Amino acid sequence: MKPPPFEYVAPSDLDEALEALADTSLETRPLAGGQSLVPMLNFRLAAPERLVDLNRIAELARVERTEDGGVRLGAMTRHSTLERDPLIAEGAALLAEAARFIAHPQIRSRGTVGGSVAHADPAAELPAVLLTLGARVHIARCAREGETGPRAERTLDLRELFLGPFFTALEPGEILTAVEVPAPGPGEGSAFDEVARRRGDYAIIGVAARVRLDDAGVCREAAISLVNGGATPCLMEEAAEALVGAGQMSGAIASAAAVGAETADPAADMHASEAYRRHLIRVLTRRVLTRAIARARTR
Ligand SMILES: Cc1cc2nc3c(=O)[nH]c(=O)nc-3n(C[C@H](O)[C@H](O)[C@H](O)COP(=O)(O)OP(=O)(O)OC[C@H]3O[C@@H](n4cnc5c(N)ncnc54)[C@H](O)[C@@H]3O)c2cc1C
Repeated sequence: MKPPPFEYVAPSDLDEALEALADTSLETRPLAGGQSLVPMLNFRLAAPERLVDLNRIAELARVERTEDGGVRLGAMTRHSTLERDPLIAEGAALLAEAARFIAHPQIRSRGTVGGSVAHADPAAELPAVLLTLGARVHIARCAREGETGPRAERTLDLRELFLGPFFTALEPGEILTAVEVPAPGPGEGSAFDEVARRRGDYAIIGVAARVRLDDAGVCREAAISLVNGGATPCLMEEAAEALVGAGQMSGAIASAAAVGAETADPAADMHASEAYRRHLIRVLTRRVLTRAIARARTR
């Protein structure tokens, strides 16, 4: 299939892109890596009248350290950059670990962090992993009459972004400009794992975990999220609660895994039954928590 006809603009700065998106005379969408949008066009699942290509906007592709030691990923950061960038390896190692599970190298060299988050596919790795890391998203749109400056910006906790499957709090005319991940603290460890039918396929289930232990080895903070385990990328809050305050970790890991498997809301599809997905949630939660806690003990 070929895509329906559309106008194409390729601005070289963000304000120009925001201006093009603010013009509502045509239904307009940003184009990032095109790894989800182009198939959607070809299958006629989307038919925007104009595409605003973000690929020439240098400021959207920067990876930087933030003042508090975290990492700010420009929306156009490629999945392949997550695998290789030393700043990410140091400040958000979980992203590097999970990025290797996304599709194949060709797709990772084009697909972007902003595209993956804005697409809000519950089966995608990055939205879930970024939830575990407590990420915030930066969003911009063209300023309206009466507002000062060329653009208006807002920041959201990532948890507020995902409203439904493939549905976010992004409004027409808005561009997700960056994702910011807080610095890992002392005693923090994280891990990711997933099960897919073949390497590179979307996960049947994936689990990401982050824990923080105090000097006595007691868990003070935990976050666990699910890939393809619900209608949106989601945190398993009750499972994480089973860990906080625990010092005897093997029992707490087993409880968290059991609570996660019970409280999650996975669907059945042609790849797996609901019961098999619950089984995988239990097994993978146990596995990633064990690894995350071992890593936390060495930090
Ligand atoms: C064969 C194949 C296998 C894949 N397997 C996986 C997988 O295993 N795991 C996985 O996570 N993904 C997978 N993907 C999807 C891939 O990771 C995509 O790159 C990603 O979902 C979307 O990123 P993109 O940059 O390509 O966005 P695009 O396809 O360009 O855009 C996706 C959507 O987001 C919007 N958008 C893009 N950027 C912005 C922005 N900055 N602000 C606002 N809106 C924006 C677009 O308008 C569009 O609606 C696969 C893709 C293919 C083709």
